[in-house]
Amino acid sequence: MVYAAAAMTGSCDRETIDLERRRFLAWSAAASVAFLAGCEATTRLSPVPSPTPSVDRPTPAARPPRSPATATQPPTSTPEPTQAAPTISPRPARRRVLYRDGALADGRSDRLTVGVSVLVEDGVVRWIRPSDDEGPLGSRSSLEVVDASGSTIVPGLVDCHSHVTLPGGAHWIERASDPPERLLAYAEANGRLLTAAGVRWARDVGAPRGRDPIDGRVRALSLGVRDRWRDRPEMPRIRAAGTWLVRTGTRPAEITLGVPDAAALLDAALAQLDDGADLVKLYLDGPDPTRSPWTTAEVRRVVEAVHGRGARVTAHATNLDGATVAAEAGVDAIEHGFVLDADVARTMAAKGVALVSTLTVLRSWLTFARTTRLERFASAAGRAALAERLERAEASVRAAHAAGVSVCTGTDFGGGSARANQLAWEVESLVAAGFEPWEALAAATWRGGELLGEPTAGVITEGGPADFILVHGDPTSDPAALWRVWHVAWAL
Ligand SMILES: [Zn+2]
Repeated sequence: MVYAAAAMTGSCDRETIDLERRRFLAWSAAASVAFLAGCEATTRLSPVPSPTPSVDRPTPAARPPRSPATATQPPTSTPEPTQAAPTISPRPARRRVLYRDGALADGRSDRLTVGVSVLVEDGVVRWIRPSDDEGPLGSRSSLEVVDASGSTIVPGLVDCHSHVTLPGGAHWIERASDPPERLLAYAEANGRLLTAAGVRWARDVGAPRGRDPIDGRVRALSLGVRDRWRDRPEMPRIRAAGTWLVRTGTRPAEITLGVPDAAALLDAALAQLDDGADLVKLYLDGPDPTRSPWTTAEVRRVVEAVHGRGARVTAHATNLDGATVAAEAGVDAIEHGFVLDADVARTMAAKGVALVSTLTVLRSWLTFARTTRLERFASAAGRAALAERLERAEASVRAAHAAGVSVCTGTDFGGGSARANQLAWEVESLVAAGFEPWEALAAATWRGGELLGEPTAGVITEGGPADFILVHGDPTSDPAALWRVWHVAWAL
């Protein structure tokens, strides 16, 4: 198995870095230290964003407005007092939370900015400032202060390959045949797991079709979940693909939507959009697992029609042929991409096709060698085949990265064996495959937001939603820090 641990430290001298860190911290609290990506730039300084002049400052002199009714209608029933008692109509109290003295990592570089405070008002990031220069804070009585010291503030994570209606586990495929009521219960549990793990956005790339027991509609069950969670701020934001579209004979008919020919494929894709899907998911593994079930022209026709409706297309492809067809047809992303070569990687980069990596699937299967009696995982032959497959998949994600393809993280939880709170596993897996930790963090934050087409997903900015988390540790040097989420700002 290829582990690129050298990428973590290279030849950097850690003592030098620590010395630099101490010197720098003595100089200013608003700074950052980086020790990745080679030693020619061992330490870089990163000033905290400057104060924003347009911030709404509290106005102590402001008085609550009088009720118009009270102001215009004199009292009629009582002679005393002679002047109408004003009815106070106070402005609804703003919820103000100050996160004080944390570090900040946004996945845009290897910099960790320390000494950062963030003020949140009613769920909006009002400002991001140096902790030693916060400026006026207004009324202290209405201000809740969270001691963020020793934590890193990270944008809410984006899981680009998920299946919110399914629970995962070693029998994940069987669970897809559970009744709709059960699938919605899985979704509810998954939503809580995602939030606790700091995942703000989940891109659902396939759900069983059935009658939703709540809204009564017959469609992919993820769509009703997505709609209902819009009104629940504590639950993840979902973008959903509807049901998997496969060539008949590829996957169990009761779970997926099988189509016999290219004309039916196009109809089925547009029908998914009619159902309310945000994107379309094509299966480019076919009955013959080494061959794409559709030609490039057939896939391109679907891509053009779906793009014409303002939606996106993604392609499941675990073999080289399917990935090549998907890339040449110009889909928006390839899921898994376990077998890619330099040629297809170049095509992906040229056409702006993202890769959603799901190495977690293979790592999860590796654990089943010890926790299950399933021959596929537990036998010596099974373990060897899996190790080889992981090695090939790691080489593929490296090839995509080297070609300049945008790589986004996915767990495949539910539709694969992983669980909903395991996105940190994918970040770790990318680092093990050779990514710098900050690049893996980018894959789990803003790059995922770009794939979703959601400008607020995976980013933290002044004026944007307070969709961030606090983790214990530094994810720019240690991806395992993402397992240590202790505070989720939007779920307060
Ligand atoms: Zn999947």
